[in-house]
Amino acid sequence: MTWKNTQEWQQMLQGKNCPICEDIHLKENKHSFLIKELDQSYVRLPKNQSCNGWVIVFLKRHANELFELEDQQQSTFIKEIAHVAKAVKKVFAPIKINYAIYGNLCPHVHCHILPRQFDDDPHTPIKMDETERFLSDDEYQKMITQLRKALAQSS
Ligand SMILES: [Zn+2]
Repeated sequence: MTWKNTQEWQQMLQGKNCPICEDIHLKENKHSFLIKELDQSYVRLPKNQSCNGWVIVFLKRHANELFELEDQQQSTFIKEIAHVAKAVKKVFAPIKINYAIYGNLCPHVHCHILPRQFDDDPHTPIKMDETERFLSDDEYQKMITQLRKALAQSS
C-alpha cells in the first residue's frame, strides 16, 4: 500500500473529493454504521471488527490536523473521544484502550478507539486492516444498541 498520488492528496487535504466528508453522516456506508452524532463528531462502528469493539470518532468538518481546530472545537472533540472511549470500556471491558489518529489514507481528522485484551501483544499497535472480521446484521445492531445505551448513560 502506498500514499495517494500528489495531486489526489493535495485535493483531499483541501477537502475536495474527501471520501470521509462524503459519507460520514450516513446511517450506513460502505465501511461502517452510524452509532451517534455528537456536537463535533460522528461516532461510527466499522463493519470490519478485526479488533472487537473498534469504534471511530470522525470530526464532522473537514480538517487535516487537530491544530487546525479552534480551541473550543478542539477541546470538545477531545472530550467526545473520551466520552466514546468510556462507553467502549463499559460495553467491551478491555484491559486498555488505544487511541489512534493517523489520517494517512484520508487526511480528515478521525480517531480510532481500539480496545486491547490480555492476549494482544502490548508492544505492537493494532494494525486495523491486517485482518477482516465481519459480523451478522444482528451482531452489529446489538453492538450499536449497547454503545448507544452506554453513551447515553455516561453523558
Ligand atoms: Zn473530509
